Amino acid sequence: MILRRNPVGSSSSTIKPRNMSAVLLMLLRYGRISRVDLADLTGLSTTTITNLVTELIEAGIVAQEEQDQPQERQRSVGRPRRQLHLVPDARYALGIHFGVGSVRVALTDLLARPIAVDALEHPLDLPVAEVLAQTAALAQGLIRRNPQLDRSHILGLGVGASGLVDPLTGVNILAPNLNWHDVPLQDYFASKLHLPVTVDNNVRAMALGEALFGVGKDVYSLAFVYARVGVGAGIVVGGRLYYGGGAGAGEIGHMTILPDGGPRCRCGNSGCLETLISEPVILREAQLIAERNPGGLLAQHWRAGSGPLIERVFAAARAGDSASRNLLNQRAHYMGIALANLVNILNPELIVLGGILAQGQDLLLPVIRETMIQRAFARLGEKVALVPPSFNHQNAGVIGAAALALNRFFYQHYEGVA
Ligand SMILES: [Zn+2]
Repeated sequence: MILRRNPVGSSSSTIKPRNMSAVLLMLLRYGRISRVDLADLTGLSTTTITNLVTELIEAGIVAQEEQDQPQERQRSVGRPRRQLHLVPDARYALGIHFGVGSVRVALTDLLARPIAVDALEHPLDLPVAEVLAQTAALAQGLIRRNPQLDRSHILGLGVGASGLVDPLTGVNILAPNLNWHDVPLQDYFASKLHLPVTVDNNVRAMALGEALFGVGKDVYSLAFVYARVGVGAGIVVGGRLYYGGGAGAGEIGHMTILPDGGPRCRCGNSGCLETLISEPVILREAQLIAERNPGGLLAQHWRAGSGPLIERVFAAARAGDSASRNLLNQRAHYMGIALANLVNILNPELIVLGGILAQGQDLLLPVIRETMIQRAFARLGEKVALVPPSFNHQNAGVIGAAALALNRFFYQHYEGVA
């Protein structure tokens, strides 16, 4: 897979679409904005802005407020500054998020806000053809159950898949946790749903969701770091996903943290970050602690608690159990080292921490931050904001997936991988 692009110049046929994208992106970023401010921000003439906005209003994608706001009237005597905004239900997107043993599908509006969501769980050994068939049926059902939506207004489908994905062909090359090899997700869903389909790794999709619609709207560079069954990161620079030469950028789960004698990783190396702070690893360590000390707080929460096991570990730590606190502090320290390395290479303005890092943020974040600042070069770490995701963890995946489809709309006229 080669994602190298040649420089692309502008021609008379690409100038207008690019200008249109610039206007759409400003409307998305600022929410409400006047034509004059659009012209200032994009560097386009007010005539060009007026023409583009007229087209968007006629298509129902943009609306303008009837009255000038009082403060606007005062500020701009004689210059009407009617505020424009995107019409959220002018267009829709579908998002499919493949987790490990679970699939979630959402129909969202133009701002990636879910309108309807459905989910299914499946045994890990269910044949991939069956998982895909059930998923397509779930998506079709979601569209059928919302007949008020104009089907022609669904812009496309985004699919967030686990593991290695070729975004050019839409093939899920390898998903080790599902034992999938070379699954042609793009072709399959295009034939079933008759929509444009964009496929990417699900962590990368969530990074894009944050960059376009979430906490990353106003920053130039961000990393979305996700820890669950695996550990990975999506990197966004200048509003676009960064893929690297072979779409492998962001594989921080396989950063070596313990060079000698660390646990074996599924990638074949040892001492990788993922062997130290994934959810299964923390659960395994917690279970050992509970077995060693059956009367301890962790053992009590482990046995008597309800809900996901990882929440029980967090609950024990919050209740003051020192063994689970020590475990989490140690693992947060390792994550902090990984983030310091990330900061030294990328120096992002923002790092969003998702998955178990968000669920246990009150316990993990202080140590992660402290280590990151301590280990990053000079004072680079101090300027990096560490924040939880904008979207609740159940929907972050489908919002990210929908963002893959919506990204094509907002950037549709740019070249290359959406
Ligand atoms: Zn590894």
